[in-house]
This record gives sequence, structure tokens and C-alpha cells, in this order.
Amino acid sequence: MEVRLRVDPVACDGFGHCAELAPELISLDEWGYPIILGESIPKQFRGVAEMAVNQCPRKALFLERVATPTTTPTTR
Ligand code: SF4
Repeated sequence: MEVRLRVDPVACDGFGHCAELAPELISLDEWGYPIILGESIPKQFRGVAEMAVNQCPRKALFLERVATPTTTPTTR
């Protein structure tokens, strides 16, 4: 199971508080709106990601859990 950060661009105020809290995971565009860096959150940054989600004043930042694709061996 992968965990990813997502932003609701409609709810976001663009003040960039999340990027201050989690610079390893979030950058800002030229207007101050967050850019999520990478896809899956590395395990060592999950606590930081949860803190940024919990402290987002607009509840615009959230975590998404995505099933990791599995590969099945092929037999011939
Ligand atoms: S803390 Fe929340 S409202 Fe503020 S820039 Fe980040 S996602 Fe947007």
C-alpha cells in the first residue's frame, strides 16, 4: 500500500504553510500553491506528511492510500 499526498486546489488558500512544514515533500509554485514532490511518500516522511495534513488550515491537504500493483509470475 502506497501513501500519497494530494491537494484540493479549490480549497487551498495558497499561503504555503504545508511547504514550510514538509519541505521534503512539498514545494511551492510561483503563486504559493503547493506542488507535491514525487508520488509515494517514503516511510520516513509519513509522520511529517500527517502533520502537514493535520495543520492545513483549509483542510485542502489529504493522504491517499493507493494499492501497490502486484505482478504475477507467468507460466508457460
Ligand atoms: S497548508 Fe493547506 S491551504 Fe495552505 S497552501 Fe498548503 S494545502 Fe493549501
